[in-house]
Parts: sequence; structure tokens; C-alpha cells
Amino acid sequence: NFRCRSAFKLLEIDEKYRLLKPGFCVIDCGAAPGAWSQVAVQRVNSTGERPDLTKGCVFGIDLLHIAPLEGAHFLSNQDITSSTTHTKLQELLPQAYADVILSDMAPNATGLKELDHERLVCMCLSLLELAEKLLRPGGSLLCKYWDGALAHKLRDGLTRAFQDVKTLKPKASRKDSSELYFLARTFRKI
Ligand code: SAM
Repeated sequence: NFRCRSAFKLLEIDEKYRLLKPGFCVIDCGAAPGAWSQVAVQRVNSTGERPDLTKGCVFGIDLLHIAPLEGAHFLSNQDITSSTTHTKLQELLPQAYADVILSDMAPNATGLKELDHERLVCMCLSLLELAEKLLRPGGSLLCKYWDGALAHKLRDGLTRAFQDVKTLKPKASRKDSSELYFLARTFRKI
């Protein structure tokens, strides 16, 4: 009963890398319709369903409307690349910092492969600004991108800010799509 099949990609990545721990605060960028947030809510125990574990929090942001979900706080109709949204998140985060930033964001595809690739890379690069403001030292960032000529620019940016950067292709991701994920771990705050 996930809102969307994309949940299986996050489940697969989290099974292997254990990004989401009870008590963690997560920012889910491009969260609509909310499947990744559903996974995050369970893993960080943000509903407090497991009283024996620490209670975490989940914030989801999307340009579109996101239907309410217990354990998640959604900012619908908001642009994650805008500094207004960053400020809102900062005010909402219990400790002013997040442990994990997730991004499954994608621009509306034009069908022009290079253009779509460039637009998504730019959106992902803006996540570095978000991390600078809101990610705790040691935190991690997972972001989707479409492979192409500028992927190395994104990887370089992530490598400057994080100790460890990996490229992932979850089995649940269609083989014929250029979709890949960067997993960047151990944020070094400058
Ligand atoms: N992970 C989601 C889930 O599991 O339900 C699916 C995400 S969907 C593939 C990509 C989303 O990114 C779209 O809903 C789109 O509106 C959103 N998006 C694109 N650009 C955005 C931006 N600048 N700020 C916030 N959300 C954005």
C-alpha cells in the first residue's frame, strides 16, 4: 500500500546502506505523491509507533500538492530550490538540522535528453546549498539524476562536501532509463 512504486527503490537502497535510522530527521525533496515519505516515516519512527525507539521526523516538499500522511509534515506547492523554502524548513526542524536529505526530484521531462539532464543536475546542485544550511555534519544525501555530460560536475560538487560518494542503480529502477542515484555520505560542514 505504497502511494507509488518508487518506494521499492528507496527500500532497496536503505536495506543495503541503512541511511534511515529511528530518531533521524529527514527532508524528502520532490516528495509527491509521498511513497518515499511513507518509507521514511516507518524507518525513522516518526509516528512513534515503536515506543521503545527514538521518534524521528519527516519533512516532504513538492511543487505539487501532497496528500497528508501520519508522521510526515508536508510543504506542498513549494520549490525546494528557493531560499524561502530553506528558511521555512530551518524553522520547522526540531534541532535546526536534518540527518538525511532525500531527493527523487525530477523536472517535467521535455523529451530532449540533454536538456532534461542539465535541468535535473542544476536542481541537484541546489541541494548542496540546502545541505550547507540544514544538514548536520556527518549527515547524508541521496539524490536521483539522469546520466549525461554534466554528471561529473554534480559528483565533483558532492565529493567536495561529503567524504564518500557512490553511484547507485537500484534493481527496482528500469534498466532502459538513464536514472541513477548518488549516495553521498559523511557531510563535512565547512
Ligand atoms: N519520491 C516520490 C514518491 O516516492 O512518491 C516521487 C517523486 S516524483 C518522481 C518527482 C517529483 O519532484 C514531482 O512530484 C515533482 O513535482 C517534484 N519536483 C520537481 N521539481 C521540484 C522542485 N523544484 N521543488 C520541489 N519538488 C519538485
